[in-house]
Amino acid sequence: MALHDRLEQVYANVVDRNPGETEFHQAVREVLESIGPAIDENPDYANQKIIERICEPERQVIFRVPWEDDNGEVQINRGFRVEFNSALGPYKGGLRFHPSVYQGTVKFLGFEQIFKNALTGLPIGGGKGGADFDPKGRSDSEVMRFCQSFMTELHRHIGEYVDVPAGDIGVGSREIGYLFGQYKRITNRYESGVLTGKHLSFGGARVRTEATGYGCVFFVQEMLTAKGRSFDGTQVVVSGSGNVAIYAMEKVHQLGGTVVACSDSSGYVYDEQGIDVQLVKQLKEVERTRISDYVETRPSAKFVPQRSVWEVPCHVALPSATQNELTSVDAANLIANGCIAVGEGANMPTTPDAVRMFHEAGVAFGPGKAANAAGVATSALEMQQNASRDSWSFDFTERRLQEIMKDIHARCHATAEQYGMPGNYVAGANISGFTNVADAMLRLGLI
Ligand code: GLU
Repeated sequence: MALHDRLEQVYANVVDRNPGETEFHQAVREVLESIGPAIDENPDYANQKIIERICEPERQVIFRVPWEDDNGEVQINRGFRVEFNSALGPYKGGLRFHPSVYQGTVKFLGFEQIFKNALTGLPIGGGKGGADFDPKGRSDSEVMRFCQSFMTELHRHIGEYVDVPAGDIGVGSREIGYLFGQYKRITNRYESGVLTGKHLSFGGARVRTEATGYGCVFFVQEMLTAKGRSFDGTQVVVSGSGNVAIYAMEKVHQLGGTVVACSDSSGYVYDEQGIDVQLVKQLKEVERTRISDYVETRPSAKFVPQRSVWEVPCHVALPSATQNELTSVDAANLIANGCIAVGEGANMPTTPDAVRMFHEAGVAFGPGKAANAAGVATSALEMQQNASRDSWSFDFTERRLQEIMKDIHARCHATAEQYGMPGNYVAGANISGFTNVADAMLRLGLI
């Protein structure tokens, strides 16, 4: 069968076997569209059905999470963990707590994670988990009770050498603390390396909080350098105002750019003077409130409700909120307004049409698998420190992280060139990540 037909058939099977999981289908399609040239080169990938195997998770767990709210009422949520691929190391990937989470979300994120983790060059497999729990408006003790109940089931499936969860949307250092506390209590083991994103006071790594945002900016810096440009003097727009967005903004400012807008699900804030990152930290990390409150402290800024932040002109766009948030309409606006580079801080925030438009317009486009790999890379560094009972300095860790991001950029760039698609970081990331995992799978036998 011709290669193209074969890949189409793999895709059709994935859709058939995973009905209704549209984000997962989208993530698979995007990888299959890129890896043709690599499969052409090595017939074993097809003979050993590596592609078909990679699309099927090694294990999936769905579980009930019962807990009691502050009114004494029993609540029930659904928890997930998808252990996708362990060819390169223990399953590794975050937990997402958001009301929209279902099996398809977790599978798409787990699938992306396989290739992202492979790109880091560190020994980590791919997995993801979460729950349809909405932390918004919940008290601290409700969040704690939820985390304890979630871990009461999850602990059977994870371990330092098995599966190592971390944070994602709705799961930060506070939640990781409650999850680790419960794991420790149930198992009676101080197994630091079972979770990453821990607070510094109990085995966390410096720079883990900042890592995803900083790393995304480092990746874009490399793309800009390849174009003979830099962040100095650029206008930047960031979507979101959570952990990724906050530290991306901080690093842009350190590198001489100005972030003029950021957002949350209620709308966006435009601040010509440059977004006050300390203020966003205060609002989002401490007060856990809406971004609209920004203008109360900075009246010169403007809050624009219910509109896309991508209508704000910029040279660099960093989508750092959630999947499929940057559409073809947004891409058209950004291109018309002179955008030269896009770095995905979130996972799959750009729709496939929008990605195509960026490529056609010559905009440097850094896909999440590469551009946001710094979070999980720093998690792997946290595992290293836990295994050796060590704790590295901020500067040393940040330097390591910057080297990793430089390497990822170089690998994506070189791979795209090698396969005749210069400047196409999507192809570079997918082919490079895929071949790393596929080669290991071939050597491990039929597993
Ligand atoms: N949730 C992050 C990601 O999407 C980090 C995962 C981790 O540190 O394991 O890559």
